[in-house]
Amino acid sequence: MSNQDNQNPNGFGGGGFRRGQTLIIIVIAALLTFTAVSFFKGKLHDGVSKELPYNEFLQLVKEEKVQSVVIENTQIKIHLKADQAGSGDRPEYYTVRMDEDGDLMNRLFEAGVETRRERQDTAGILYSIVSFILPFIVVLFFMNFMMRRMGNGGIMGVGKANAKVYVQKATGVSFADVAGEDEAKESLTEIVDFLHNPRKFTQIGAKLPKGALLVGPPGTGKTLLAKAVAGEAHVPFYSLSGSDFVEMFVGVGASRVRDLFRQAQENAPCIIFIDEIDAIGKSRDSRMGGNDEREQTLNQLLSEMDGFDSSKGLLVLGATNRPEILDPALLRPGRFDRRVIVERPDLKGRVAILKVHAKDVLMDDTVDLEAIGLATSGAVGSDLANMINEAAILAVKNGRRAVCQKDLFEAVEVVLVGKEKKDRIMNQKERRIVSYHEVGHALISALQKHSEPVQKITIVPRTMGALGYVMYVPEEETYLKSKQELEDMLVSLFGGRAAEEIVFGNVTTGAENDIEKATGIAKAMVTRYGMSDSFGLMGLATTEDQYLSGRTVMNCADVTAAEVDEEVKRILKRAYTKALTMLRENRDVLDKISDFLINRETITGKEFMEILRRTKEDAVLKREQNVILV
Ligand code: ADP
Repeated sequence: MSNQDNQNPNGFGGGGFRRGQTLIIIVIAALLTFTAVSFFKGKLHDGVSKELPYNEFLQLVKEEKVQSVVIENTQIKIHLKADQAGSGDRPEYYTVRMDEDGDLMNRLFEAGVETRRERQDTAGILYSIVSFILPFIVVLFFMNFMMRRMGNGGIMGVGKANAKVYVQKATGVSFADVAGEDEAKESLTEIVDFLHNPRKFTQIGAKLPKGALLVGPPGTGKTLLAKAVAGEAHVPFYSLSGSDFVEMFVGVGASRVRDLFRQAQENAPCIIFIDEIDAIGKSRDSRMGGNDEREQTLNQLLSEMDGFDSSKGLLVLGATNRPEILDPALLRPGRFDRRVIVERPDLKGRVAILKVHAKDVLMDDTVDLEAIGLATSGAVGSDLANMINEAAILAVKNGRRAVCQKDLFEAVEVVLVGKEKKDRIMNQKERRIVSYHEVGHALISALQKHSEPVQKITIVPRTMGALGYVMYVPEEETYLKSKQELEDMLVSLFGGRAAEEIVFGNVTTGAENDIEKATGIAKAMVTRYGMSDSFGLMGLATTEDQYLSGRTVMNCADVTAAEVDEEVKRILKRAYTKALTMLRENRDVLDKISDFLINRETITGKEFMEILRRTKEDAVLKREQNVILV
């Protein structure tokens, strides 16, 4: 996240350190007390009293040597008669442990012993208390020390000093800085209005919203939007991440929530932004058993949201990319009842985002942001911002004074597949294999009607693992894919492996990624898109987290799942066979382009199409000549 210049970690609970000191003082005091008490206790035992066995005690009573006894909880104090005084170092009194002796009182009475009952002495009580509490305090002290070493500010600091709340008096971000999220901006404009002039709404009797949830994949600009709302409304921006609330100790998160809301309420109108709210807002009835800390934090958040007075202009914005796991209580009216979807930008959105970020960068006339937008389908705002920056760095590296289109395309690749890995030198054989593999993909795409045009083929390895790749740029962005398009996609994904088999009679590990992708597509065709004849329109899987991995879970019987696997296998096999056939029929083009690629390392889509066209024409010419010769 950018734009943190005027952020300062807020003083939020700055008393943490002083409290930490207090704790140390308490511990030292407890230690001192303990030492003192045990010292005196020891003295009582060693110098002033002496313990006797019970039968010796009874003997003394019988011999009428005992003057008086004090019966306590667990022991009996015995004072002997004065005439029994022996040597000068005789103890002041004796003690004996209590025994089960029903006759004791009689015996004492008969021997004329003064008897008194007394509860345990205060030193004893103190001793028990200290010996009970002390281990606890010592542990507490130790943990405090450890946490300090981990840089957490100590136990008394938790819930206070280290809650990473950032306050920005003015975010300096406006809606103009957020591009391509028009629908999201529209819903948030209304919220800005609430903050600007809450009375306008309350006068008429409208209840102001308390919170809104920004939902979408990472990097689409949720934080940026929240800041823009604060910027547009000219109110301070309090932000904290959901994971900052969840601590090792139960109750800490809850106290952080309380503090955050207290602070914000004092400074209303303002915005509280909780990023990754799923970290605390996870559904409470999870199967894995509860998590007390998280539940308490969530409960506190819920009660704070119910408690504050929205007419003062306090608004809570939450962001998440896993809305499906949120506790329903969080989404009820009066809490995060508005949901603002922040989607991956479409072509228009991407171009707009590129323009926003290109504003501060010098660009020459060759730059065509539309083309970059087309080449970056699926990229989110943060990727695009990153690309512009990479392009600027590349331009400087290449000694240019402004960014050109080539820099931008190179930057797109850097962000999507990593930097060129110049030190990885493949041997000639590997270069040939990679070259045929990539041309296999590209050729099949070019030969099929529904595939996207090839922009570039390269066999320069990249840092993110690719040894070579084909870059496609669609002519226009589409939002639906037809069954035919998906099937064509499968065939071109298998083009690489098919080329290897045809040319080398052997296959390599290079197709791992293609196989994974193809399997995913085929599975989705069967289980989710209703595109297989055997299963028809039956939904067999559901998506778990649509904004992150897009992982799916099967929701059908095991037998059906096994049948699905069989069907997927059939679809993949069909696609591979088609890839083999197509490449065999076009072996001459495959060879020509691969040879060309081995020498050049990188060829453009134009060069590729040119060779393809020429070879085809030659073939037709040859055929015609043959016909004439015959
Ligand atoms: P999120 O919170 O959704 O993960 P951020 O708001 O942190 O994403 O986005 C990270 C950065 O990406 C922003 O600071 C901004 O530079 C850029 N960015 C993301 N989306 C957009 C957008 N729609 N318009 C302009 N810039 C964007």
